[in-house]
Amino acid sequence: MFTRNLNYLDEVHTCPSCQTRMSCCEAPPVHVGDGLGWGSEVLFICLNDECPTFKNGWQHIELQYGHKGSYRCMELPGSKERNVMMVASEYAFTGSVIDVEAVKKQNARFIKEQEALAALDACVATHDLTPVMTLILDESAALSNRQKAVSCLRQMNDLSCIDAIRNHTFRDTSLTQECDMIIHDILQSHFKKECPHCAELIKAQAHKCMHCQTEL
Ligand SMILES: [Zn+2]
Ligand SMILES: [Zn+2]
Repeated sequence: MFTRNLNYLDEVHTCPSCQTRMSCCEAPPVHVGDGLGWGSEVLFICLNDECPTFKNGWQHIELQYGHKGSYRCMELPGSKERNVMMVASEYAFTGSVIDVEAVKKQNARFIKEQEALAALDACVATHDLTPVMTLILDESAALSNRQKAVSCLRQMNDLSCIDAIRNHTFRDTSLTQECDMIIHDILQSHFKKECPHCAELIKAQAHKCMHCQTEL
């Protein structure tokens, strides 16, 4: 339900000129005057320097246009139509090859965030901490989504959230402060405190920690 279409990542394109597997590359940004560009965020490009299209392209462009450049074979996702792209050097596109596994991982994280967000509305009633903690502890999630989760955390008033939050380093200081305040309030409403020595939860009125035996 939250999947983004990343099917193109699994496409195999074979260069019509040299038969090697083409690389999935980020499409170059569209310049003013280029019209609509390629209509795709990725292009499959043959980056084989021994590809005949690339090897013979230098001479062709020199003769035709009088400047330095060559061609790389290119195909669009979902298409077997043969295209070429003009490149000014052998390094063009070599820096924009997409790390397919990284993109898939990012997408999996994104889907998890969206699922947790959708579950937030019901989580207070069902007392389900999982989506709340998923969002709060996900440093890549949108801040507004995490703040929404923080407000659920307050309503749920559950001691079991404390360890995970204490063991997490927030990059956003406002989240750190808000979580600190909520933990303070949760502890108070359960008549508990954290031992300043071992961090275990103990009775608010305790004079000695039952876990580390420290006198308080
Ligand atoms: Zn090729
Ligand atoms: Zn202690």
